[in-house]
Amino acid sequence: MLNGMEGCFNKLKSIVFYGFVKENLICHLKDKPFPLYSFVMKKIQILPEFLANQIAAGEVVERPSSVIKELVENALDAGATHIDVAVEEFGTKRIVVKDNGQGISKDQLPLALERHATSKIKETEDLFNIHSFGFRGEALPSIASVSRFSIASKAEGLDEAWVYKSEGGKNFNLEPAAHNQGTTIDVVDLFYNTPARLKFLKAKRTEMEHVHDVVVRLALANPKVSFKLISDGDEVLRFTAAESESLDDMLPRLSSFMGRDFVDNAIGVDLDRGDMAIKGFVSLPTYNVSTTRKQYMYINGRPVKDKLLMGALKNAYHDLLHTGRHPAAVLFIEMDARAVDVNVHPAKAEVRFKDGRSVFGMIRTCVRQALDEHSTDVSTTPSEEALRRFETKTLPQSSQPRFDYSGFGNSSNSAIVSSSFAQARTVEEDTPEISYEAPHIPQEEYEVETSKESFNNHPMGAAVAQVHGTYIVAQTENSMIVVDQHAAHERLVYERFKKQILNGRVERQALLLPEIVELKETDVEALIEREDELLAFGLEVEQFGPQAISVRATPALLGEVNAKQLVLDMVEDLRNMKKETTLQESLEDFLSTMACHGSIRANRKLSVADMNAILRDMETTPNSAQCNHGRPTYIELKTNDIERLFGRR
Ligand code: ADP
Ligand code: MG
Repeated sequence: MLNGMEGCFNKLKSIVFYGFVKENLICHLKDKPFPLYSFVMKKIQILPEFLANQIAAGEVVERPSSVIKELVENALDAGATHIDVAVEEFGTKRIVVKDNGQGISKDQLPLALERHATSKIKETEDLFNIHSFGFRGEALPSIASVSRFSIASKAEGLDEAWVYKSEGGKNFNLEPAAHNQGTTIDVVDLFYNTPARLKFLKAKRTEMEHVHDVVVRLALANPKVSFKLISDGDEVLRFTAAESESLDDMLPRLSSFMGRDFVDNAIGVDLDRGDMAIKGFVSLPTYNVSTTRKQYMYINGRPVKDKLLMGALKNAYHDLLHTGRHPAAVLFIEMDARAVDVNVHPAKAEVRFKDGRSVFGMIRTCVRQALDEHSTDVSTTPSEEALRRFETKTLPQSSQPRFDYSGFGNSSNSAIVSSSFAQARTVEEDTPEISYEAPHIPQEEYEVETSKESFNNHPMGAAVAQVHGTYIVAQTENSMIVVDQHAAHERLVYERFKKQILNGRVERQALLLPEIVELKETDVEALIEREDELLAFGLEVEQFGPQAISVRATPALLGEVNAKQLVLDMVEDLRNMKKETTLQESLEDFLSTMACHGSIRANRKLSVADMNAILRDMETTPNSAQCNHGRPTYIELKTNDIERLFGRR
């Protein structure tokens, strides 16, 4: 018994012992200090300045790139037209930001490192009308408190330059210096006195990516300012000043930031409404990505991450993209500074709008308009992808015919190879005859309208053939187009349907014999509850006993449909819908289900007239370049590219 107690006490002793450190009682638990001094009454004290700054630094200065962001923003606020950023060891060893802005005079230099000292606001009203990046007066003292810091400057109109230095926010020192007009800030050994922060830095490459990102992002919003980024002596970025802030002048920086791919697949947006202006680029729906990471928005030049803005963008694409796919975009929004509160969070790029609704509406409408104007454009990515595939296809030399037509439905009678393609064919005169037995193909499948007239004024060209019963091949003056007949037709039906619904006039077609569909009781209830709503969509149903409904009419637009399958799919949609949502509210989902039923399926033979009708329809239907899921409905191969494939260019 005694032994047991002693053992227990010894065990306790081994994990806990007490000690006095200064006047604080510290308990060590398994070697980790665990303060017990909260039990002792403490005096309230004002924190020393450097400590207060280090605390603020926790919010403002997360990593090297956040230092650069603050310093470049200060340079922009000072009206600089040239800004050079240099880093050593990705900014962890040293960051230098030099500008040619208005500079700081000798007597003001020490103030720049004081907490809550700013030249940018004076009174409360100013806080609601901010025209600068900075206004908190926190960045410089915070950065200085966690580094060896110096700020050298010559103010506009003065002859002398001065440098002010500090070590970890202490030991200040002011000296004369040599400097042109402007300011250079030199930050050495970031976080040297807060080792815990150092540990949180990610791999060096990641830090450098952040640095790069921050510089380009700010450069993007300030096209008239030249920027340079130097990493360990190597120039990694250089942007010369653009002449204007037009969309065209944005392109070089945009391409560096978003990639050439984005630029090739983007649509310009440019609208000035007086109280608000919006400018930038959004991706074609067929160029979509799996996250919202490629959406960059600016309010009055300030990069922001805002749910409302992203929501507006998403809404503009609502029926053009599948759930889970997102557009890429870079949008600059200008508005009265009083209409937006930027004082929401020191580090997060959040803002609050006075009239969020109107901002939402404006962005949505103007992006959608741009999309509608380009609604028959298709992203080049699929065609390029197709080209690459063609290019990498290597044929065994001897055993194959010289030309492989297998991808084109074995059309050795080459209705496809006409006009512009014919030219490509005749160049190599000594091409051996193709020893290739064409399978018998009924003649009418290859009725061809080769006359130039037929595609002269038609962007989608003239239908040439249908291949694999699934694709329409058409030719335009300078390209070949392959249309996915099901995807394209689905879009056409969808858009027509939507128009009818919005006009409140959906035509119904009565079934000769009502179709009885057996369902679970709950599904019957769900359908019958929405009987009137369904009627507005052109679907007339009636209860037929507890476990069945009868379908009396279907939307005329869909043509002859399998009413039973349509109802089963509707039931599926209803199951996924909240009870309180109206069909109108989930219009898009509902319509796409219906449109799918009315569409020409793959493997259905089409006449040339049918095909041409589809092409003409596509030219005038909004958003016909992609199906409801954001996939392209057609691809276009330019004759130039085809020639490239054959090594003619
Ligand atoms: P804020 O930008 O919020 O005012 P900062 O701590 O970033 O606070 O800067 C403090 C002040 O130092 C600024 O208000 C500005 O007057 C001055 N300043 C900082 N950087 C520069 C610069 N590059 N050129 C001219 N003045 C500067
Ligand atoms: Mg600042």
